[in-house]
Amino acid sequence: MNSFGPRILIKTDGESSIGRGCVEYAYHYTHQMADIKRAACASAPIGAKIVRFTEGYRDIRRSADDHEEFHAFDITVDLENGHRADEAQLNTMAWRMKLFLGPDYGYLVHGERSGLHIHFRFKRKG
Ligand SMILES: [Zn+2]
Repeated sequence: MNSFGPRILIKTDGESSIGRGCVEYAYHYTHQMADIKRAACASAPIGAKIVRFTEGYRDIRRSADDHEEFHAFDITVDLENGHRADEAQLNTMAWRMKLFLGPDYGYLVHGERSGLHIHFRFKRKG
């Protein structure tokens, strides 16, 4: 890792098994969502090479969804040793991100095997 920290990559449609990578719209470009990206890089585990954003906007659920409201990103980390960050590493990373960003943010680490990711959201209260 250089002094800039890990590289940020946005998942492309071609990298996706469902043909839809990370969808971003102009509504994502708020300082709160930029802060999520910066905090992810600052909180990534030792040996992190790439912080990968795998989901932005989506509209696949009937219920209200953070992704539909432009308030969430899904995040994975590629390590320099060729592995993905594991569940423990992602939990520590997400906890650090929340500590850094404060109570208006929340997270969940979930997904099986290659689908394992941090769901990190900004949610203003009230
Ligand atoms: Zn998510």
